[in-house]
Amino acid sequence: MSAEANKSSNFINQIIDEDLAAGKHSSVVTRFPPEPNGYLHIGHAKSICLNFGVAEAYKGVCNLRFDDTNPEKENQEYIDAIRNDVQWLGYDWPGEARYASDYFDQIYDFAVELIQKGLAYVCSLSADQAAIYRGTLTEPGKPSPFRQRSIEENLDMFRKMRAGEYEEGSHVLRARIDMASPNMNMRDPILYRIRFRTHHQTGDTWCLYPMYDFTHPISDALEGVTHSLCTLEFEDHRPLYDWVIENTSVPAAPRQIEFARLNLNYTITSKRKLLRLVEENHVDGWDDPRMPTLTGMRRRGFTPESIRHFCEMVGVNKVGGTVDMGMLESAIRDDLNERAPRAMCVMRPLKVILTNWPQGESETLTLPVHPQKPELGMREVIWSRELYIDREDFVEEPPRKWKRLSPGEAVRLRGGYVMTCREVIRGEDGQITELHCEYDPATLGVNPEGYKPKGVIHWVSAEAGVPAVVRLYDRLFTTENPAGNKESDFIEFLNPESLITMTDCWVEPALAEPQRALPYQFEREGYFVHDSQESENRGKLVFNRTVTLRDSWEKISQKNG
Ligand code: ATP
Ligand code: MG
Repeated sequence: MSAEANKSSNFINQIIDEDLAAGKHSSVVTRFPPEPNGYLHIGHAKSICLNFGVAEAYKGVCNLRFDDTNPEKENQEYIDAIRNDVQWLGYDWPGEARYASDYFDQIYDFAVELIQKGLAYVCSLSADQAAIYRGTLTEPGKPSPFRQRSIEENLDMFRKMRAGEYEEGSHVLRARIDMASPNMNMRDPILYRIRFRTHHQTGDTWCLYPMYDFTHPISDALEGVTHSLCTLEFEDHRPLYDWVIENTSVPAAPRQIEFARLNLNYTITSKRKLLRLVEENHVDGWDDPRMPTLTGMRRRGFTPESIRHFCEMVGVNKVGGTVDMGMLESAIRDDLNERAPRAMCVMRPLKVILTNWPQGESETLTLPVHPQKPELGMREVIWSRELYIDREDFVEEPPRKWKRLSPGEAVRLRGGYVMTCREVIRGEDGQITELHCEYDPATLGVNPEGYKPKGVIHWVSAEAGVPAVVRLYDRLFTTENPAGNKESDFIEFLNPESLITMTDCWVEPALAEPQRALPYQFEREGYFVHDSQESENRGKLVFNRTVTLRDSWEKISQKNG
């Protein structure tokens, strides 16, 4: 079962190969364990791709398990969104999603087992006192005065804790390990605390909730997880994970393996900080297209394929680092370049009148949906006497090597005819209001005789085009590591130009009924996805920019560096 074609070789696969070769397991079981206290982000995508990817590669299974031991921060909205996001990425779990809370009874019984073995006790120090007893990184801790409570008293008090007979914060259950351990996690860590909270799954059944470090190994073992993959910050918790497995009668011995978190520059991957962006209205909800959440990225036009490919490129390693946003952007750009249908959209309209085109007549032109993919078919574009071009494609005094329109010069309109600018019309305020141009009837699909157009520009029929709003999204932060400076708040680094709304755009007529599956490539502009929800809100077509055609940030940083 070792090296298979669809399995990239990384240190985790090596460990699994060894475990399988040594006969420790006959099949591989992993799990993805989100806490339902926020929406999944691009960092979680790495963990999802890894956990489900490993299971797929070894023909095993990966469970989705909600790590729901903190009722105050969790809720059903997050649970539903997480399930949806995992499936959208293209993964599925066997049977129903699991919940750590499904195991609360069993976890309680394992705690009782520890008490009976003299390995856990009820501690009644206040949180402040407990912190002092705990010691520091350089000084050992001191045993709690409650460490010597009898097993009977511990059992009795723990039962009363469960029965709701004590106040929140008055007692906790702690493991009895080693107050002098150099590893702070082993200094009699808390296993249970009292919380009078209604839980989204278990209602008011419990007022006593197990800690993550106790819950996780037990949940893994109960599900027969063989390899429990988690991020590096849990490395120091591994001795505790193993201690729980060794000292309780759990039915299996899962193995924890740590890997480096994914960090991306120009954004943040912390649910807590993302929640702040939402709560303080810096963004328009968890699914704001600027958010690095999967729901935001979906609304932005990212495809699941591009995210999976990105995670593959990032790979799995033991050393943390920051990945360049440019890599994520090029993953979606590469995918869309292959697949996105082409269309034209004019964002800064300047009217063109073709003075030699008959009034009231139009012509239907056919253009390829994708110039390199004839199998994607053709699309119809309407040519008419009045057209829009982009204001930026016209200047009165062209610089040298100007490849677009200027007075007296000719350009080809993409897929249509060549036209020459004859007259510039101005309004009372001196602003250019329209251009009068002459089209050359002999130039559809062929070069003109005796002169050369300066270039090719995009356009939309002013008579048949459809008005649209285009939202130009850009990176959410202006600095690479917005959360990296202790002195300043990451909010200060929000990019004020992360959203520019273009309200007076025109798209070609075929887009009146836009497809949803994939973004379009708006020729010469970038990739844009239809936002059906926002279109409905505004009663007008709305498109979101997924990504530009080229990486303009790279150029800027090269220029500045
Ligand atoms: P956050 O700090 O954003 O709240 P978390 O680790 O608390 O993240 P969980 O819901 O506990 O969020 O995460 C579920 C799984 O995803 C865990 O196994 C966690 O290690 C993993 N994970 C979270 N963030 C990242 C990341 N940036 N890169 C890789 N894996 C991650
Ligand atoms: Mg967590």
